[in-house]
Amino acid sequence: MSDLHELRKQALAGAGIDTLAVRAGQSRSAEGEHSEALYLTSSYVFDSAEQAAARFGGDEPGNVYSRYTNPTVRTLEERIAAMEGTESAVATASGMAAILSTCVALLKSGDHIVCSRSVFGTTTVLFTKYLARFGVTTTFVDPIDFTAWQKAFTPDTRLVFVETPSNPLCDIVDLQRLADLTHEHDALFVVDNCFCTPALQQPIKFGADLIVHSATKYIDGQGRCLGGLVAGPKNLVDEVLGFIRSAGPTMSAFNAWVFLKGLETLRLRMDAHSANAQALAEWLLAQPQVEKVYYAGLPDHPGHALAARQQRGFGGVLSFCVKGGREQAWQVINATRVMSLTANLGDAKTTIVHPATTTHGRLSDEQKLAAGISDNLIRVAVGLEDVNDLKADLTRGFAVIA
Ligand SMILES: *Cc1c(COP(=O)(O)O)cnc(C)c1O
Repeated sequence: MSDLHELRKQALAGAGIDTLAVRAGQSRSAEGEHSEALYLTSSYVFDSAEQAAARFGGDEPGNVYSRYTNPTVRTLEERIAAMEGTESAVATASGMAAILSTCVALLKSGDHIVCSRSVFGTTTVLFTKYLARFGVTTTFVDPIDFTAWQKAFTPDTRLVFVETPSNPLCDIVDLQRLADLTHEHDALFVVDNCFCTPALQQPIKFGADLIVHSATKYIDGQGRCLGGLVAGPKNLVDEVLGFIRSAGPTMSAFNAWVFLKGLETLRLRMDAHSANAQALAEWLLAQPQVEKVYYAGLPDHPGHALAARQQRGFGGVLSFCVKGGREQAWQVINATRVMSLTANLGDAKTTIVHPATTTHGRLSDEQKLAAGISDNLIRVAVGLEDVNDLKADLTRGFAVIA
């Protein structure tokens, strides 16, 4: 049984990402289940007092308690590590738990973070409101201004944090260039790969030290569960794992099982999201009520060539400005009947949102201006519906503001 598992594992070394998404990490139980088993158990039973002592002492590998290890969660961790091309990975209760655990495990009071200004809003809150209380400071920079990154480093900089493509304007960051700069300063380069997933982008190839995910988005793909992941070399992931075991932001086995099922179709879904987003972006460009479209798949997007080099597809998120202001943007949003008005993304269902008054509502007017979050901006996370129905859904609103 275990020999066969080892042989299967060897056969997957160097396998394509589509194979890894379906196969990596699975170790069947003696029951021979074809679909990954869901181990809903908080603790594990030992054969003898001797074995219990050996397990607790770390002399014998094996499960002790599900805050430490769970076979279903372990399968997901191995699969993500294989797909990201990293040595190891650890799962967390949410994307934010992945980011928090990474920072707490690897930073100490007095350390400094350089972070893209265009990251997930809660990441900004975590860094400025909470990490700052423990003496970890952050400088935020315009992600596509390389000079700004260079200037932001201090002798205390230990970590650089970036998302690409950015939300909601699809700015594309040159990962290799930023990784090189980060390493010149002996800092760790952390990439939030939530928008692309390993199906479209493997940051490790461009020098990332650690990759964090909100599995809640495309990895689930159907809006059911919260989860997060941290992938990277074993020594760094083990540090994060140590914190997770002590602090407890562990992924539930059930959620891990849902994500495993999600991964099996990840590539197909990301390709379909990208194709739909591309078609919708091109169509939006031609609409008289639209002032500007932000999508890296459009040839005149400033990050187009870089995204084409760095990514396998342009992803499912786009933004556009309607002619007018907040009133016109809200009218278009309110006229939709197919799309869901929600801030979530990475779902089979298309979502539409007004960033200036929701996801980016906490920013001051000045910060919004600097980040390009104008009142007439609308973000669409394009789902898997027939794109003609999505066009018709927006046309309803365009007729109102025409
Ligand atoms: C949603 C999101 C997060 C946070 O993930 P949760 O699972 O909601 O905690 C982090 N980064 C990005 C880019 C996200 O979209």
